[in-house]
Amino acid sequence: MKLSTRVSELGPSATLLISARAKELVAEGKDVLNFAVGEPDFPTPEPAIEATVQALHDGKTKYAAASGIPELKKEVAKYYKNRFNLDYEMANVSINVGAKHSLYNIFQALVEKNDEVILPAPYWVSYYAQILLAEATPVIINTTDKSFFKITTDDLKKHTTKNTKILVLNSPSNPTGCVYNRDELLSIANFCLENNILIVYDEIYEHIIYGQEHVCIATLSDDIKKNTILVNGVAKSFSMTGFRIGYILAEKNIITAINNIQSHSTSNPTTFAMDGALAALQQCLGFIDPMKLEFEKRMKYFFTEINKIPNITCFEPQGAFYLFPNMKGLLNKDINGKKYSSTLELATALLDDLHIAAVAGEEFGAPGYIRFSYATSIEQIEKCIERLKKWLS
Ligand code: PMP
Ligand code: GLU
Repeated sequence: MKLSTRVSELGPSATLLISARAKELVAEGKDVLNFAVGEPDFPTPEPAIEATVQALHDGKTKYAAASGIPELKKEVAKYYKNRFNLDYEMANVSINVGAKHSLYNIFQALVEKNDEVILPAPYWVSYYAQILLAEATPVIINTTDKSFFKITTDDLKKHTTKNTKILVLNSPSNPTGCVYNRDELLSIANFCLENNILIVYDEIYEHIIYGQEHVCIATLSDDIKKNTILVNGVAKSFSMTGFRIGYILAEKNIITAINNIQSHSTSNPTTFAMDGALAALQQCLGFIDPMKLEFEKRMKYFFTEINKIPNITCFEPQGAFYLFPNMKGLLNKDINGKKYSSTLELATALLDDLHIAAVAGEEFGAPGYIRFSYATSIEQIEKCIERLKKWLS
């Protein structure tokens, strides 16, 4: 059987694949340190669980409105009003099966063959795959740790063509942890307005940010707001990855198109999970700060210790829960009688020989780096540093 051309070059999500391999090794009894998947290791807040259980008991086990229950849409709009003083109505909100699905819907609704989507690298793995699935062309802007992994309007100028339709921005960023400030966002947003480029702004890590303010790009002006599609969800802020609830805020015509796609693909996000997400937004904002403080503590420790290892240098993340050290200094050097010519090979060796699961930069369009998710205990991080030091000495 011949598969469609659309999937011929599609591999599995590397972040999920490596995490699954790590779990297999654990099942075999190996002491694996899992830094592969980006998923908070905190328990889901109790009110979200209670509301979900209650929803099940209340008989919310049937189909719901395909684009999400009105109560949750209202709550999302209210949340954006309270947090960013932004006015959105229910018709500006779509509830989806996780933010990954929000993004999938967005690309399906907005781009097609010959359209170009500007994607700064390092990028989160699924953007690239989803742009290809929509048959559009990802146009990559490469960035490095030297420029704090950020793009500028000069970069945009060089990569914009008459076919450019969307710019994807993710701040705080997965995998680098970089955060755009107000001025940077303003010049990028104005460039996009002038050049008729829609902005997809993924702010799923908005609350996991260290020592600075998260700027929602839609707050910068009314015109910028109209030109922006916001993506967010409950997975990271409330440790609810398994609930699969994400959402989009955008102009009504975009939301209608997305809702139509959803009504023919998934139908509604899981009915009772939406009650859990609603309770999270209503009652669990206080859960975030202690979690963030813990992430920050781990980051500081991991960042400081990994920087002490010769030939590894690391940019200090300003948000999210990933460390993205530059490992180029380890390539083609003798390490215990072996040489590794890429970070893909190096990451494989980390897993096979050291039982450290982390994701090679190649998967994020950034060879030379390896991503470590520090959504894991400080003890695991200490062990990781010990193993790395021993291996490299
Ligand atoms: N955007 C980014 C940048 C992410 O890291 C993730 C994590 N998977 C998502 C979107 C999707 O999150 P969700 O679990 O809600 O699908
Ligand atoms: N966002 C997480 C990560 O990057 C979850 C895995 C995924 O959805 O790809 O690891």
